[in-house]
Amino acid sequence: MSIEVRHINKRFGGFTAIDDISLSFPNGGLTALLGPSGCGKTTLLRIIAGLEQADSGQVLLDGVDASSHHVRERQVGFVFQHYVLFKHMTVFENIAFGLRVKPRSTRPSEQAIRERVTQLLNLVQLDWLADQYPSSLSGGQRQRIALARALAVEPRVLLLDEPFGALDAKVRKELRRWLRRLHDELNVTSIFVTHDQEEALEVADQVVVMNKGHVEQTGAPAEVYNHPASPFVYGFLGNVNLFRGRIHHGVLEAGSASFRVPDHAQVDDAQGIGYVRPHDLEVRRYQPGGDGIAARLRHAHAIGPLAQLELVREDNDEVIEAVISNELFREQAFKEGESLLVSPRQLHVFVEQVG
Ligand code: ATP
Repeated sequence: MSIEVRHINKRFGGFTAIDDISLSFPNGGLTALLGPSGCGKTTLLRIIAGLEQADSGQVLLDGVDASSHHVRERQVGFVFQHYVLFKHMTVFENIAFGLRVKPRSTRPSEQAIRERVTQLLNLVQLDWLADQYPSSLSGGQRQRIALARALAVEPRVLLLDEPFGALDAKVRKELRRWLRRLHDELNVTSIFVTHDQEEALEVADQVVVMNKGHVEQTGAPAEVYNHPASPFVYGFLGNVNLFRGRIHHGVLEAGSASFRVPDHAQVDDAQGIGYVRPHDLEVRRYQPGGDGIAARLRHAHAIGPLAQLELVREDNDEVIEAVISNELFREQAFKEGESLLVSPRQLHVFVEQVG
């Protein structure tokens, strides 16, 4: 089922939680709603589910306005951050629950329920837990059962609100890969809420970056990561170094350094900020008159394939974070305390204010 939201607004008292959001979620796609705490992700998800009423705007399910459809009629499956399994029921009965409470006319036979639950237990690879109670399951297992339970009623849409939020980092990583595989198998249109950029970039087909109730950017993971539409998206999607300065006709003057920024050739005089990811910096040994920003290597963390360098600019004491291969680091034998030259391979400049 395709989902579209048009001009959704939602206020809580005097606070604007959703500010004119329009988005489309393709049929069979997996979309991540990504943003900092309080930006409105959960509220938007609840409005799509029909658990919350928007002040204005429309939710279209397969092109049909859903406002008059009750939650039950929307055929939505939900998985929340906190395990909501029924403690007094076995895993099997938890999954069967949604089928057993169906009205008699649409309820499957006992035999069909058994088959469906067994099939779902196999799908989430936990068939051996059927007779256990939730209290004896790990957090990751409970979330997989919660997902199986949501899938039991064959939802046309799956909404997941920080489904792995309460789990430790390693289990989280395993489960998000598992979710991706499961989604590829089932192809149910899915939307999941997360504040973890790595999770969103790794799992989703489409990432919606939200901030303060509005959408900053929507796109494929590589697109939002490589071509951030705003300074907020740049900063939110990974570590970044900032070079503040003034732009004059295609050149950003930032302290003693200047960078060519051909995209801003038309700018006469404006405040600008250059953004560079740590792995987009080239680091060389210092040579007088050499190209780049002179910076002292304060600390090097060189374990595994990459070396993370913390450098301090000699002109203004600002810290620069660079990532190079450990191989290059060893080859060059950079020492803590020595001066190096740093130059961006890719600099993305946003004009802050004109004049
Ligand atoms: P988090 O990741 O922390 O859950 P979020 O992006 O999901 O954040 P929402 O839960 O959608 O954010 O909340 C958005 C804003 O709306 C928050 O500032 C929150 O305090 C406010 N809010 C949400 N629900 C209500 C409510 N029922 N009454 C009043 N304010 C609310």
